[in-house]
Amino acid sequence: MKVTKDTVPEGFSIQMALVDLLPVLFYGIVNILLGYILRDPLFITGGAICTISGTIKVIWKMIVAVKQRNVWPMFLQMRIFMPLGFVMIIISIILNRGAFAEFFGNIMNYPLCLGLLIAWVIGMIAMTVCAIKLDNADVKSNWIEQSINAVAQLMLLICVIVIMTTGAMKADEAVEIQEPRQEETTSIVDDSKADDDSKADDAEPETIVNPVEEYNAWTTDRVNFRKLPSADAEVISKINAREEVTVTGETDGWLQVRYNNEIGFVSRDYISTEEPTAAYGQAQPLVVDRSKTTGRIVCIDAGHQRYGSSATEPNGPGSGTMKARVTGGTTGRTTGVPEYQLTLDIALKLQAELEARGYTVVMTRTTHDVDISNMERATVANNAGADITIRIHANGSENTGISGALTMAPSESNPYCAYIANESQYLSRCVIDQYCAATGMANQGVSITDTMTGINWCQMPVTIIEMGYMTNPSDDVNMQDPNYQNNMVIGIANGIDAFFSS
Ligand SMILES: [Zn+2]
Repeated sequence: MKVTKDTVPEGFSIQMALVDLLPVLFYGIVNILLGYILRDPLFITGGAICTISGTIKVIWKMIVAVKQRNVWPMFLQMRIFMPLGFVMIIISIILNRGAFAEFFGNIMNYPLCLGLLIAWVIGMIAMTVCAIKLDNADVKSNWIEQSINAVAQLMLLICVIVIMTTGAMKADEAVEIQEPRQEETTSIVDDSKADDDSKADDAEPETIVNPVEEYNAWTTDRVNFRKLPSADAEVISKINAREEVTVTGETDGWLQVRYNNEIGFVSRDYISTEEPTAAYGQAQPLVVDRSKTTGRIVCIDAGHQRYGSSATEPNGPGSGTMKARVTGGTTGRTTGVPEYQLTLDIALKLQAELEARGYTVVMTRTTHDVDISNMERATVANNAGADITIRIHANGSENTGISGALTMAPSESNPYCAYIANESQYLSRCVIDQYCAATGMANQGVSITDTMTGINWCQMPVTIIEMGYMTNPSDDVNMQDPNYQNNMVIGIANGIDAFFSS
């Protein structure tokens, strides 16, 4: 007999309704356990919908059994909510397959659990076949269907409980995230305050991470980015202060974060959810004796140009060493801005700043579409009778973690321009110190080099400033920030002031 609006299913008893209650009960517990472990809202919601829907079905059967009268909508809801709940559960399993695989991953070590799980799958298939083939309102069909369901859900429940209690999932029921194998590391100096939870006697250290809904956070200091949540773990790279990271998980004392498309761990102590507002204060010009600076001639060379020139030229007067006339420079790894653009942007701003301070400025270039070799740039400065030359560049490195600024000067034994070495080194020191003071850029000091064509041809104190690493996300982004650029310019100008006024 079909259950319809007008008919009352025959033979529905309270006992039968109670048999229906069993699978709902078992499955409800499974859902609570798995939901607690996996902590996925979609899974929990889907499971709750299935459980509630099943419970309403049981209530429906009880009412039918007691009143011997059909209650139509209470049965119909099964056809909407039960499939909806299952769809949500399946989507959740697909989305969280890593966590599910982790949970059931050790099942091969537990033949009992494996058997139970297979039995559950067979039970579900059998029940579905029954539901399709047999008359749902037929008493006998219902007994068969719900008995299979009850046994199957009980097996699933036992399976889950066994896995949980036998240590397949240990420690706080947290989900273990796929971790890179911990490698042997030696003498890493640790700068973190976080507790070290790793146990030395564990042959294979476990990383228990509670996944969280992803959110953005910022480093409050320069921190180690580690493979595992342990002060002994290998350092993937350093993350600069004020860098944005995406928090993906939590564990004792550590946060699992994504940075540069890599997953790793940083100490909680150095992460804040507050976005840094004023990344840097407004740098101030030095107060100097302007009578010592006014009218000084400064040549500014904006490094590189749109197209490099690989033809060669001597790297110093009378030198047999030939170097490319001028190269294309590096490119902002994060911003995509080419070095020749950054250097000219800063050079033009520096020109305005220096002129405002009373200097006379000579520019080697004011557009990108030029072809001026490094030797020719030095010659521009020489011919202009410049008092000093400031060559504007930005750095690049294979290691994107490297950041900071440096200046370059010739040595006292430079074969071409030793006579400008001391003053160039002093100029370099003034510029890098003032630049880093104004910007907060890490100070990598003065680098002594005799291989730079643009230095070797100079006849006056000269410095090359590598303003920051375009390969470093933080430096690169900062150097494109207009406020930061103002500080860069004020810092370089302060260095020039310091050089002339001392
Ligand atoms: Zn350069």
